[in-house]
Amino acid sequence: MSYLHACLLRKRTMLIVRSFTILLLSCIAFKLACCFSSNISSLKALPLVGNLDFEHVHEASKDFGNRYQLIPLAVLHPKSVSDIASAIRHIWMMGPHSQLTVAARGRGHSLQGQAQTRNGIVIRMESLHPQKLQVHTVEDVPAPYVDVSGGELWINILHETLKYGLAPKSWTDYLHLTVGGTLSNAGISGQAFRHGPQISNVHQLEVVTGKGEILNCSERQNSDLFHGVLGGLGQFGIITRARIALEAAPTMVKWVRVLYQDFSAFIKDQERLISADNKLDYVEGFVIINRTGLLNNWRLSFTPEDPLQASQFKSDGRTLYCLEVAKYYFKLDNKDVISQGVKETLSELSYISSTLFTSEVTYEAFLDRVHVSEVKLRSKGQWEVPHPWLNLLVPRSTVKEFAKGVFGNILTDTSNGPVIVYPVNKAKWDNRTSAVTPEEDIFYLVAILTSAVPGKDDGVEQILKRNQRILEFSEAAGIGLKQYLPHYTTREEWRSHFGAKWDNFVRRKSRYDPLAILAPGHRIFPKAPYDQFTPISLSSDYNLPLSG
Ligand SMILES: Cc1cc2nc3c(=O)[nH]c(=O)nc-3n(C[C@H](O)[C@H](O)[C@H](O)COP(=O)(O)OP(=O)(O)OC[C@H]3O[C@@H](n4cnc5c(N)ncnc54)[C@H](O)[C@@H]3O)c2cc1C
Repeated sequence: MSYLHACLLRKRTMLIVRSFTILLLSCIAFKLACCFSSNISSLKALPLVGNLDFEHVHEASKDFGNRYQLIPLAVLHPKSVSDIASAIRHIWMMGPHSQLTVAARGRGHSLQGQAQTRNGIVIRMESLHPQKLQVHTVEDVPAPYVDVSGGELWINILHETLKYGLAPKSWTDYLHLTVGGTLSNAGISGQAFRHGPQISNVHQLEVVTGKGEILNCSERQNSDLFHGVLGGLGQFGIITRARIALEAAPTMVKWVRVLYQDFSAFIKDQERLISADNKLDYVEGFVIINRTGLLNNWRLSFTPEDPLQASQFKSDGRTLYCLEVAKYYFKLDNKDVISQGVKETLSELSYISSTLFTSEVTYEAFLDRVHVSEVKLRSKGQWEVPHPWLNLLVPRSTVKEFAKGVFGNILTDTSNGPVIVYPVNKAKWDNRTSAVTPEEDIFYLVAILTSAVPGKDDGVEQILKRNQRILEFSEAAGIGLKQYLPHYTTREEWRSHFGAKWDNFVRRKSRYDPLAILAPGHRIFPKAPYDQFTPISLSSDYNLPLSG
């Protein structure tokens, strides 16, 4: 009898607990639904020139990395800067308890959801065209520049500025990226050794902060914001306009590739070429591991200096290093003089003599070269695959040790994407910006750009494990690298990434985006009350949960 009684009692208790849990969950769901619908209705009431789309949000939940997916509440298609300011100001006014965040999206070429937000607002920056691109030539100003929207693609800037015989000085290898997207990182390519990254070639920005203020900034005006935003991973404001330095645009490019078997010889020549007295305009390089018929493939777009010897060269089973350089020239230049100059420069280098290949292309075709590969890969369905890429900045003092441990050892195949290696001069980077680099006069960009192509041996998981091994090896060997396009999951890792710049980074966040509304996809700052980011807590060892 007492046993039956106990059973009944337990059943009743379980029923009460279950009912209570259901009630609690329903309350939470109801509260969330209320919160959502009040978010939606208040956002719908915003007076915008453009529009907020609550339905077609899936495109904004994807990126080039193809591994992370956060579904936003809405996508803002801004038609004016005030659309962006109104939306952010509205969320700022909702205060710390609203969970709404805002992610600016360029072309979504991020790798790990950096341009995404869960249940927040994605701003499609490409919709923002407040005015046409405005090119200012030497007839109007002492040094030419162009004013562009933060959502403009670099390829469009190239096309427009070329009409005036001008072009930006510093590029990325691929131009179908947006101004705001690359300036939030750095924007590095083979011209960076001379001109610095793209963030070193900007005169002025218009920015919408995390409080919805529209501010102009430059070296002279709001300089703290200006430097903070450059390389600032979108944390302090949305770049709505940028003034970019221009130079006279060359018309043609002499493009050269040569091979090395020895990494030390390869980087010795690269470093010679990035020194001040070098006459070349572009210096890059890449690693080739165990490729069959490599030089035959080059023949499609390059001409061998010595066709017979080149045809006898075998790349199979070898780890090789390709130096890639370019010399720009103008219509009125004497082509023979240019060729002679390049020849002289090459004669000082120690590459494998049978591997000299050259090509002549227009400046435009040279800069847009990666787009040709994009078109090919798209046609084979190999563009929209996962891209577990790893981009690193490796100090000069440890790059040989890095190469010894990684190339041909941890990394044993380069057939599923290039591995780019080239040095840049730190002197061309402005230390006041948020961009993080190794503290040496020269450091190397090492970009391991492997695609996870279906049906090939290496799947995403294997590639990610390999990347992890590279990072662990580097840590153990004291390589002292910094990630470019960084991705971390803990506050401690972010702090260590920024190193001496961390306190300033946190201070700027508390000043320009105190509620942590912006760029939640990096998961550096959770959306939190104002005083959690005040400078008081800068040095204390607080560990905030990750947002996003
Ligand atoms: C094929 C390929 C080649 C590449 N080559 C190079 C290279 O040679 N050199 C190099 O440096 N990088 C290179 N990149 C990386 C590129 O710089 C990044 O992908 C960068 O994120 C730019 O892409 P996006 O314009 O699509 O920006 P998104 O991926 O959309 O955004 C990137 C970050 O910037 C923020 N953001 C976007 N717009 C703004 C804005 N207006 N204001 C503030 N924040 C904003 C986003 O919220 C996000 O955090 C390459 C990428 C690809 C896919």
